[in-house]
Amino acid sequence: MIVSLGIDFGTSGARLVAIDTDRNVLWRGTSDLLSKGWRETLFAMIQAIPIAIKSQVKRIAIDGTSSTVLLCDREGRSIGAPILYHDRRGETVLELVKSIAPAGHSVISATSSLAKLLWLLRQPEAIEIVPTAGEVYFLHQADWLAYHLHGKLGISDYHNALKLGYDVEALRYPDWLERQPYSPLLPQVVKPGMPVGTVLPQVATELGLATDCIVCAGTTDSIAAFIASGMEEPGVAVTSLGSTLVIKLLSQTRVEDVNFGIYSHRLGDLWLVGGASNTGGAVLRHFFSDAELVSLSQEIDPNRSSNLDYYPLLTPGDRFPINDPHLAPRLTPRPERAVDFLHGLLEGIASIEARGYQLLAQLGATPLTAIYTAGGGAQNPIWTKIRQRYIPVPISISPQQEAAYGTALLAQRELPRG
Ligand code: ADP
Repeated sequence: MIVSLGIDFGTSGARLVAIDTDRNVLWRGTSDLLSKGWRETLFAMIQAIPIAIKSQVKRIAIDGTSSTVLLCDREGRSIGAPILYHDRRGETVLELVKSIAPAGHSVISATSSLAKLLWLLRQPEAIEIVPTAGEVYFLHQADWLAYHLHGKLGISDYHNALKLGYDVEALRYPDWLERQPYSPLLPQVVKPGMPVGTVLPQVATELGLATDCIVCAGTTDSIAAFIASGMEEPGVAVTSLGSTLVIKLLSQTRVEDVNFGIYSHRLGDLWLVGGASNTGGAVLRHFFSDAELVSLSQEIDPNRSSNLDYYPLLTPGDRFPINDPHLAPRLTPRPERAVDFLHGLLEGIASIEARGYQLLAQLGATPLTAIYTAGGGAQNPIWTKIRQRYIPVPISISPQQEAAYGTALLAQRELPRG
């Protein structure tokens, strides 16, 4: 038996999934991220796998939250604290980012890895750093965790490195980034899922892993969640109905539009085009408990229109599919009956989803052929029927939604066949 491990360091905790080559799940582990450090969490989750499974592990890959980054020394020790995915301190160096990156580049964002690197380099503890290759490394969460297994510092993958400025089409850092004095700190970038190295002998002994177990390059948590769906055909999309509405479409063409926050990740020979709206389950949760969502939804006739034209938001402003930082939430008129109000909200979000896919098509993405749904809202069959009225392709639940499962599939991809 050949076992692959996928380990997800997501926004709400860490998870581990072990699968065999038939994609069956053999083991699942979870951990919160508050009680222990990242490395300790990683090691404890691997240690907890039953030995009969663990001894068969041949591949390990790790995904982390996108743009969670840190500087570390040649021993892998963090210099200062890591900066998390949603941290906006990069705002203070945004002008600097703009001055080096081409207009409209996806690194021009307060949360991009590059903005965080530039912020880190301006801190007192970093002023001393001479940016010499081999002395200091700038890494993403997934890169740093993988280092603790394979012992190689300074390696990343092109999913994590997209918002650092890596050119995923040319497969190199662009000249404008190579020219910077800190370029020696940038990690070497490889294909996600590619074998990077065998697990360190002392780590194999400590964790009970086989000495020929290979650690692969990782990915980000949201791409891992898409890979989990198992979908590989252009035209197939995954809509995530979580706190926010996120759509991701596999396309033969690359689509980028900074105004709408649309960008594409490279996935095999295709592009994973994504957009995210501020609408979504957080608005539903503001008005209804999850139990109410279930019971009230059952009273809705999904084939009828509510005749309410909502744009559900909690605070003004959206980026995709409407780019307007001042866009006002549209939640009136409010019907008397809760069920009618919910009907309007579900339709409003469905119409934003439909508009999102239309926008991707207008910008040149491969035409949509099917949607798989993930997240809390995927479990609502009435909502699926409502969405089906707005979107003319088959909509179903994504068979697998766990990022850790997707990362395990990624780890398995480059296994020798036969
Ligand atoms: P995230 O990980 O983004 O926080 P989840 O995927 O866990 O989100 O989904 C949680 C969201 O799903 C909540 O915002 C909630 O409003 C929504 N949700 C939960 N149950 C239902 C339901 N039956 N119908 C529609 N939405 C639901």
